Amino acid sequence: MKVGLAASRSLRQGARSQLIRLVRRHAPLLRQATVFAVGGTCDAIRRARLPGMREALVRLPRGFEGGLMRLVAQVVEARPEDALDLVIYLLDPNDPTSVFPEAQALKRQCVVHGKPFASTFAGADEWLRLVAGRSLPPRLLAAQTLALVAHDRLKPDMVAFARRHFALLSRFKARVATGTTGGLLQAMARKRGARDWIAPMRSGPMGGDAQIARMLLEGACDRVIFFEDPLVAREHEADIQLLERAARVVGERAVCLNDPASAERWARALSRAP
Ligand code: PGA
Repeated sequence: MKVGLAASRSLRQGARSQLIRLVRRHAPLLRQATVFAVGGTCDAIRRARLPGMREALVRLPRGFEGGLMRLVAQVVEARPEDALDLVIYLLDPNDPTSVFPEAQALKRQCVVHGKPFASTFAGADEWLRLVAGRSLPPRLLAAQTLALVAHDRLKPDMVAFARRHFALLSRFKARVATGTTGGLLQAMARKRGARDWIAPMRSGPMGGDAQIARMLLEGACDRVIFFEDPLVAREHEADIQLLERAARVVGERAVCLNDPASAERWARALSRAP
């Protein structure tokens, strides 16, 4: 397995930092992987002296020397020797570098190419568990509210995804969606005999993203599956960014999936997990 790894400065300092906790927790898996880590992140892991980790690391340049840009190119080029299976960028939403072009392009190119991109601790932790073939904590889904959002071109994919994984998505405590997406999903669920399967908020461009962001911040939602369209101009780009940023503010518990291919991988891994 090949993993791209970066972490904002505040999330990689010290043994209790998100980065070091994550790497320590998943050391058995990561030791057998190749971890392409951006300079400062790589140095922080080396300093933590986790047994066997040194050998797994490939050090990219530091962020300000272009390390993140290298990672973006690696997502795009996909040469067999360095094609990434997973990109983890633990982002501090209050660190200005989190909105640098390379940070945004890294996420966007992961969406374009259907690569899992985890920007929160909870998301990274969950992906690494699933890749290792482990299940999620029991009753986790039953305690969580799931938000589903899809941009216009991807609404058919969202409905098909929800139909395919109806049983899995029904295990959540509750489901919410932006308005139009929610209407389509509700119609699909009704055909399966489920009334009130999902609660639609306002339409995305009319503030639905902001409503879901508020739920994330208040602990009323912990997970977003967002099929976003990276190939169109989006009049409500600020709202989309706001939703993503809200998830990062509560990144210890919030998980985001950003594209159909990654969501499919996630759902299959979860269905297979013991
Ligand atoms: P919608 O919102 O489900 O109301 O279309 C999603 C979006 O386009 O942001």
